[in-house]
Amino acid sequence: MKRYVILGGGYGGLAIIGRLLEGELPADVQLVLVDRMPYQGLKTEYYALAAGAVSDVEIRVQFPNDPRVHIHYGNVQAIDLDAQLLHFSNGEPLSYDHLVIGLGCTDKYHNIEGAEQFGNSIQSLASTRRTYQLLNDIKPYGQVNIVGGGLSGVELAAELRESRADLNIRILDRGGRVLSSFPEKLSRFVSGWFEQHGVELRSHVNVSRLEDGVIYNRTDDGEEEIHSHVTVWTAGIQPVAAVQKLLVPKDPQGRVIINPYHQIPDYPNVFVVGDCASLPFSPSAQAAGAQGEQIADVIRAMWQGETPKLGKIKLKGVLGALGKKSGFGVVGKRAVVGYVPRVIKSGVLWMSKHHKG
Ligand SMILES: Cc1cc2nc3c(=O)[nH]c(=O)nc-3n(C[C@H](O)[C@H](O)[C@H](O)COP(=O)(O)OP(=O)(O)OC[C@H]3O[C@@H](n4cnc5c(N)ncnc54)[C@H](O)[C@@H]3O)c2cc1C
Repeated sequence: MKRYVILGGGYGGLAIIGRLLEGELPADVQLVLVDRMPYQGLKTEYYALAAGAVSDVEIRVQFPNDPRVHIHYGNVQAIDLDAQLLHFSNGEPLSYDHLVIGLGCTDKYHNIEGAEQFGNSIQSLASTRRTYQLLNDIKPYGQVNIVGGGLSGVELAAELRESRADLNIRILDRGGRVLSSFPEKLSRFVSGWFEQHGVELRSHVNVSRLEDGVIYNRTDDGEEEIHSHVTVWTAGIQPVAAVQKLLVPKDPQGRVIINPYHQIPDYPNVFVVGDCASLPFSPSAQAAGAQGEQIADVIRAMWQGETPKLGKIKLKGVLGALGKKSGFGVVGKRAVVGYVPRVIKSGVLWMSKHHKG
């Protein structure tokens, strides 16, 4: 038997499995999905769970229930590429013949003291549940600071505004505007929405350290103290710890360099998908899914002894939510704002929940 292990049942891993299961599997192939959770957590919706705007069960998707896929629960601690072994925090190691690494990403704290301890996370379902509890337990009119004005920070601030009208919500960003990687028109629209809805935006904030209840902003005159009942960290990501430990070539974001077939060049039996892979675009669920489909095509071509033919991955755009009724995004090359992108985003979510995306 040849064991194909897919590490991570997220957008990338499940796209591979879904596509492979569409056809026959060779008789000597065993497909194993490894995850630390018993279902997929729809990471693109973690901001809404943290804000208390959706329930936990609404953002879970069951893993495939197919006798051809064996599901192995476990928290991967280390990947030994030479011995072809996976080590878990509990239990026996698991060997593989072929591997896909699709473990996603975690927060990056940029060596800022106290950031990991006092900056609450929305990067895993477990950490999002803790953040949800803290945000929803804050006393009336308490102060929330969200460090990082990218997509997830903006979506969280807007959803929390709708979920808790009493809170004081502030986004602290290092740059001059929120959503700095999006067209300026979108940043202006989003800033206007925040102004109308009483969310404070502070730009050029240079967070130097965090303590319990205080964020320090390094300024030309010293350190400003910004008081905070709960701080959420959305100021950077990097691949998960098991991938950080891998001694293979990586890009400046810590993502593993791959060849055109999505394999680690020195370990062609190992593919890397999604947020762990060095792709020519920002990490996204859409990129992970599209790449996953290509990896499935490569694996199937290998089974048939053919050379895989892959096109260029084309992404459709990015969409963000501003609460339940407004949104923003880039569709093709067009910046779109208001109700329409919000409706499209809900449709995309529906498709991911029903494995149609
Ligand atoms: C708040 C927020 C909003 C976002 N919004 C969007 C959006 O609107 N559009 C978009 O395209 N992208 C969005 N993203 C990014 C998107 O969620 C990720 O790029 C996408 O989930 C990456 O897919 P993946 O398959 O690489 O990893 P994931 O989907 O994160 O899956 C990784 C899997 O690995 C498992 N895992 C991790 N570590 C271990 C371990 N040690 N042991 C065992 N299992 C493990 C996890 O349980 C998980 O099931 C958003 C992200 C966040 C945080």
